[in-house]
Amino acid sequence: MMTEAACPFCRIDPAQVLLENDLAFAFHDGFPVTLGHTLVVPKRHVASFFETTAEEQAALFDLVGRMRELLLQQHAPDAFNIGVNDGVAAGQTVPHLHIHLIPRYAGDTEDP
Ligand code: 5GP
Ligand code: ZN
Repeated sequence: MMTEAACPFCRIDPAQVLLENDLAFAFHDGFPVTLGHTLVVPKRHVASFFETTAEEQAALFDLVGRMRELLLQQHAPDAFNIGVNDGVAAGQTVPHLHIHLIPRYAGDTEDP
């Protein structure tokens, strides 16, 4: 189990924070799969969505909605993927819950 001290999301530079509320914050993914790829995380170091409280879930989805508005203003995407890889076998590589908010652009899956 990764400790908070070693966790990259517990060590995000405050200058990288795009939006926050009492229980959660949002920042750009370090290896974005599309322009504007954002992660929304709880302030508490917790690995799984299913370990979060109802208050944390509300705070997380408050920021998902607010980040969507910001990304629409900044990049005018056509759609979004919203998702959580919950557990190593599901592809989770950082054991601090993160909701991916991935802006999608018409044609962005087409072969070059
Ligand atoms: P997962 O595979 O766990 O669902 O996603 C982890 C995400 O965290 C990946 O998209 C990866 O690019 C991103 N990531 C990993 N380490 C860092 C970091 O130190 N800073 C930022 N901003 N993103 C990170
Ligand atoms: Zn953490």
